[in-house]
Amino acid sequence: MNMDNLKIILRENKKYGKSLFAKKAINKGEIIAVFDGQVYEANKCSDLPNEAPLKVRDHAIQFEKHKWRDSNGLARFISHSCEPNCGIKESFKIVAIKDIPNGEELTYDYDMTENSDWKLICKCDSANCRKLIRGYRFLPSEFKKKYRGFISKWLIE
Ligand SMILES: [Zn+2]
Repeated sequence: MNMDNLKIILRENKKYGKSLFAKKAINKGEIIAVFDGQVYEANKCSDLPNEAPLKVRDHAIQFEKHKWRDSNGLARFISHSCEPNCGIKESFKIVAIKDIPNGEELTYDYDMTENSDWKLICKCDSANCRKLIRGYRFLPSEFKKKYRGFISKWLIE
């Protein structure tokens, strides 16, 4: 079963390649897409397979200390932003944290789920961009406060 919101579409962005966009206005609280695919176990993120075309390491999200999950649908293509319009509910659901207009790129903050040895040089250009994204344990407390209710369950238990 495909769990993707019908208002999302996969398009190229200038920074990372394929990314998700709204093709109709999306309301705050709507589920965007779900990580509903294969589960991978690894000691750390860098041990995950990353061969093309799947590139699991770049697309799966972490949901336990040693577990990651990919998606069957479009969830795996959501980009990172330090000023995201989406967040995580429970472990696997991407939800809109604000009203999102038609045409806007969909993003969540990867530190809402990741806390291993994975790193990203961020190019989101938001005013409060953290530049180097390297896991929840490095997320400043003002972000943790702002993201309350949208951080993966395993990081706050
Ligand atoms: Zn950023």
